[in-house]
Amino acid sequence: MASQKSCPECGSNDLLTHSDISARGGYGPDLLPGSSGLFTSPKLRAVVCKDCGLIRYYAAKETLQKLIEKGQWNRLL
Ligand SMILES: [Zn+2]
Repeated sequence: MASQKSCPECGSNDLLTHSDISARGGYGPDLLPGSSGLFTSPKLRAVVCKDCGLIRYYAAKETLQKLIEKGQWNRLL
């Protein structure tokens, strides 16, 4: 697996991150269906490259766990 600490597009190590992004905004689409809990909302972590602007999103660990447990997502073949 490639390191998340360098940009896969341009190779830069000058990256910004934010780890408290809701995957389910009030007016936007549900980006990770099936990952909401009764009292928890799915979270994403974004990494943005300061050189080329590439944006990557990663599911937070607890969000990822919910996706796996609920089984609503299919393995990409
Ligand atoms: Zn880049």
